[in-house]
Order: sequence, then structure tokens, then C-alpha cells
Amino acid sequence: MIDQETIQRIMDATRIEEVIGEFVSMKRRGTNFVGCCPFHNEKTPSFSVSPAKGIYKCFGCGESGTAVSFLMKHEHYTYPEALRWLAKKYNIAVVEEELSDEQKERNSERDALFHVSEFAQKYFASLLYEDEMGSAVGLGYFHSRGLSDSVIKAFGLGYCLDQWDAFTRYARSNGYSDNVLQKTGLTIFKDDGKQYDRFRARVMFPIYSVSGRVLGFSGRILSKEKQAAKYVNSPDSEIFSKSHILYGLFQAKNAITRQDKCYLVEGNIDVISMFQSGVENTVASCGTSLTIEQVRLIRRYTKNVTVLYDGDAAGIKAAFRAVNMLFEEGLHVRVVLFPDGEDPDSYAQKYGSTQLQQYLKENESNFILFKTKVLAQDIKGDPIRKAEVLGDIVRTIALVPDLMERTEYVTQCASLLRIPEETLQNELAKTLNRKLYDSLNHKSDPGDKDLAESGAQGAESGERGAESGERKAESGGRKAESGALGAETVVPFTLNPAQSQERKIVSLLLNYGSETLDFEAKDNDGRPFIEKYTVAQVVVGELLDDQITFEDPVCQLIFNEYAKRINDGESTVNPQVFVTGGDERVRETAIAMMMTDYHVSDKWKDKLIHVPLPQERLHSDVEESLMTLKLKKLDIKIDEIDRQFAYLADNDEKLMLMAEKMRLVKLRQQLGTALYRVFS
Ligand code: ATP
Ligand code: MN
Repeated sequence: MIDQETIQRIMDATRIEEVIGEFVSMKRRGTNFVGCCPFHNEKTPSFSVSPAKGIYKCFGCGESGTAVSFLMKHEHYTYPEALRWLAKKYNIAVVEEELSDEQKERNSERDALFHVSEFAQKYFASLLYEDEMGSAVGLGYFHSRGLSDSVIKAFGLGYCLDQWDAFTRYARSNGYSDNVLQKTGLTIFKDDGKQYDRFRARVMFPIYSVSGRVLGFSGRILSKEKQAAKYVNSPDSEIFSKSHILYGLFQAKNAITRQDKCYLVEGNIDVISMFQSGVENTVASCGTSLTIEQVRLIRRYTKNVTVLYDGDAAGIKAAFRAVNMLFEEGLHVRVVLFPDGEDPDSYAQKYGSTQLQQYLKENESNFILFKTKVLAQDIKGDPIRKAEVLGDIVRTIALVPDLMERTEYVTQCASLLRIPEETLQNELAKTLNRKLYDSLNHKSDPGDKDLAESGAQGAESGERGAESGERKAESGGRKAESGALGAETVVPFTLNPAQSQERKIVSLLLNYGSETLDFEAKDNDGRPFIEKYTVAQVVVGELLDDQITFEDPVCQLIFNEYAKRINDGESTVNPQVFVTGGDERVRETAIAMMMTDYHVSDKWKDKLIHVPLPQERLHSDVEESLMTLKLKKLDIKIDEIDRQFAYLADNDEKLMLMAEKMRLVKLRQQLGTALYRVFS
């Protein structure tokens, strides 16, 4: 472990252009350096390095990151290896952290847990072939399910005897302490001093770490009795955490890398059956619902995941939510639906490996389109359900980091749902806005969980190939990293360009909220007619549509009141409610704004007299104010993305931010053009 101070010194010394300059030949262009991207083939340079921001970005393939992530990507270094490389380059002595006695003790206890788990696996496996019962019952069961001896061995399968404490006695006689037997959960200790084996009369599936160490077990019942659980799993322990492990990953990882693809199934047996049928790149989530840690585990090996569902409709819908996590981590998700009543195992056993592989190939489809088709079926003309489905699908599309891909989905899903493309597009824009807002708001909270997580990812991807059991060893580095992020984010905004614009809008509401504006519209036959809206309706509608929130809390309170009344069907709010209302800050602000109405010429100012503006002037004033506010808000968002960008270690998140920024910049251009039209 490298200590925090050293890491800081390395980071301070690192110049990204010098680091990348060792691998890529670059020319200065303005404040940046550009060269040909080392991550994809190109003849004209689109790879750009910003010394000021400390990041690189390829506008051709989208690859981006920091000096450290460049080394990890380009040289396939782990996080610590990248740091050591930098330390060497900049002549910084690396101080490795000494382990404390407590840490040493914890490590040795963990070693003991690993040890007894491996011992247990060997014991259970040996019973299959060396014990009469084990062979008759255990091996017989696996054979009856069509598993070959070679696959039984590859997955280390085993059997546990139908006795109370056969394993515990055997382990003790081999010198294993009650402490480790208890901590691994292999033995259950009762209050009355008795103890017995957790696993009895079951076939055993050891659960391996990525590097092949036994961490725990899953035991399947043999009898058909309904009272007992079909599967019993090891409890979580210092070395075993169900939510951080994928069943079969150890056996599958090479095939996953080779084929750049991972199949995700539900059960242990499905994994083994697929493996035996030649589809070795298969993992399962150990019967729990998929977790973010498991998704990240997959992402170390591939970005392509195909989820295999058995044909039960309720199950499919229940699993949709978990799949969103795959998108959130930037994975490409496909899906294969099995015929009703079949799971991958039963299909493989029934039809054989050739047919299984063919079925997988022919029935793979895009997940978002699949989900849309499935959900579209239960709309059945119900508009409420339709809106729900729309929202659900939009939330998933919003998770796709690539703008082009998103646009494609909008077109296809709109047609599947038989709704106008613009409707879907608008919903998507709102969702993206909200997400961005949430992420920006989160960012201002230094103790925020997501932040700590995004800080952690840098360290995590550096863990490549490390034991999952060793995960805790790196947490020191992670905490430090998220701490550094946190410190950065407490810096408050010094400039607040949107606030004066907010006041202008609220002032418009208070002084002109009840005035009506004319809008040209077309009826169903295309004939133009005039629609009338109050200023309050226009302002509230526009700002709610774009999810604009106010920075000034008092402005927000006043606006909320308008929003509430307008949504209740009223045309405006009588500003007197603010003048006589309870909140003192609201009262003061409202009075001040009504007295200093910026539209009113000086001579009326002192007299609190409301002067109506000519309709045309008011109309363009409202539009101009709304657009300017939106522009200012966009500017803040864009700035914020730039700030956030420099501190993200994760390439996928960066890509997503980049896409988001491009979208916002485009919006900004459109707004700018529109604003120019209003002015001229
Ligand atoms: P089989 O084909 O042997 O019946 P399966 O994998 O098809 O096994 P499912 O009932 O579909 O069994 O369960 C899928 C997965 O869910 C299992 O592999 C197991 O990991 C988990 N599971 C099922 N039942 C339990 C249980 N009672 N407790 C814990 N995990 C369970
Ligand atoms: Mn099954």
C-alpha cells in the first residue's frame, strides 16, 4: 500500500502532457495538445490533452481520463502500478504503509477463514467419489441432472453427509478452531453448547473468488420435501459477501474476455449447464438480485452483457429494475428470452449444446426494445398505464451514455409505443435534466454516498485481478480519494449569475402575472387561431417544463405558490397574498419587487402604481426573461460539468458527462439563437 502523502506528492508532480507525451506524439494547439489517439486507429488527430484540466479526451472514440487512468488503460497497469510508474518518472520515493498489529491479526484471521473453506471444499468434493453414500446420492444426483464428471470437477462440486456434525468433527480433528468454523458459518453453534453442520444431506456448490479461492458454499436439497429451503447459502463473513460475488466468474472469466461478452443467468445449475454446453462465458448472481458491485465486477472483463430470462412474464418484469444498473455502469445490454417453462439448464439438457448455442444466437435482442415490447403489451388502451410505461422506458433510455444511441432508441420506442417521437424526446430531456440536477446537487454535499463511490471506482478498477477477499485492504486508499473530492466540493459558488435573472422573473409574476398574452396556434385543420394565456401561466409552464429551480429560496417560495395555483387551474395569484402572508422574508421581497418593478419608468416608481405595458412589449419581455434565465442555468450546469469532469476517475462516467455537456451546449446554442430573434 502506498501512503496518502506519497500519492499526493505524485499527483502534484504529474503533468499529464508529459506522461502522455511518452506514448503519443503531440503538437501544441492553443492551450491544449493534440495527437493521434492511441486507443483507436486514426490518421487525423482527434486526441486532445488539456494540461490545465489534467485530462485527455479523444473526440474520435470518446476515450477520456486522467494521467493515471491513461496509464491503466494504455499500459494495462493496476492503480498502484500506475502510481509507481509516475513516482519513478518524477523521482518520488514511494513510502509503503506498514500494517498495524491489528491489521496483521485481521489478515491472519482471514487467512484462516480461506483455509478452512478450501479444506471444506476438498472434503465435500471427495465424498462424491470416495464415500458410498456420497457417490450413490450426491454423484448420482449430478449425473441424473446430466452433468459430466469433468464439469463436476471444474466447478468443485461436492456432497455433505446426512449427519448432524460429520463435517465439524472432521474439521476439528484436523485442527480447525471453533472460531473459524463459526465465522465461516460452516458450523452453527447453539446457545445450549451443541453444534451442528450448516450443510447436511445436500449437494454442494462452492463459491469461488475471481482468482479461484473458495469463499463460501451453496447447498441444494436432494429430497422433495417442501419445508426445507431448496438452497442454503453460507452466511456473509469476512471473506464472503454474496452481493460482491458472481457465481461462476472464476470459471468464466477467460471466456468472457475472449468473447468480450458475458451471459447472465439466474441459477448455479444454469451456469454449469451452459458451461458444459460450450457457453463458458456465463455467470449468475447467486440467487440474490443483481447488485452494483456485481455489475462492476462484470465490467472489468467486458462491456457486453446478455441477460437470459426464462419465460415467466412476472419474473421478467421484476428483473427489469436490476438491469437498469447494467446501463448505469455503461454496459451494452442484450436479452434472450427462453420458451415458457424452460431455464437455460433445462433447455440445454433437453435439446443439447448445438441447439442451445443456436437458440442463443438467434433469439438475442436489444434490451431496451425488448423491454418496450413487453411493457407495451400491458398498456391495452389504458392511458395511465401508458404514461407509467413511457416513464419507465424513458428512465432506462436516459441511462444510455451515448447520444446517438439514445436518439435511435427514441425513434424505435416511440414507434413501438405508438406515440409521437417528440413526446418521448421531451420526456427524455426532462429526465436527463433532472438527473443532471440531482447529480449536481449531490455534488455540493461532501459526505455524499455517490461521490464516495465515484471516487472509489478509480481505486477499484486498479484492483483488477485482485482477490475479492482482499477488497478491504484497499479501502484506505479509497477513503482518502473520496475525502479529497469532498474537500473540493465544499467550495461554494462565488459567482451567481442566475440570481438577478430569478428576481426579474419573480418580479414579472408579481407585477404582470394576470396580464394575458396572445399565442398563435393551429387547430386540427391547420387553421390559425389565437390562444390566450396569462403571464403567470406562461412562466410557470415554461419553467416547470424545463425543471428549472431557483437558487434564491425566497424566489422559489413565491414561484411555488404560483406553480401550485396554476396547476390547480387558476390563471394567476393575487400578489396581495405575499404582502399579507406569514413568511417575513417573502413579504419583504414581494413588497420590494412590487415597488421597484423594473419595467416601470421612474416617475411612477414611488407611487406603487401598476402601469400596464403594451402587449407586444410584455410578450417579448416575458420570453426574453425566460430564455435568459434558462441560459444562465445552462451556463451553470455546463460549468459544473467541467468542474466535475476534472475529478472523475471513471471513464464511463466521464463519457456520460461529455455527452450531457454536448447536449447542453446544443440547447444553449438553440436558446441563444431564439433569444437573438426576440431581440432583433
Ligand atoms: P434447479 O434447476 O436445481 O431447481 P434452479 O437454479 O433452477 O435450480 P431456482 O429455483 O430457479 O433454481 O433458483 C435460482 C437460484 O436462486 C438458485 O440457483 C439459487 O442460487 C437461488 N435460490 C433458490 N432458492 C433459494 C433459497 N431457498 N435460498 C437461497 N437461494 C435460493
Ligand atoms: Mn433449473
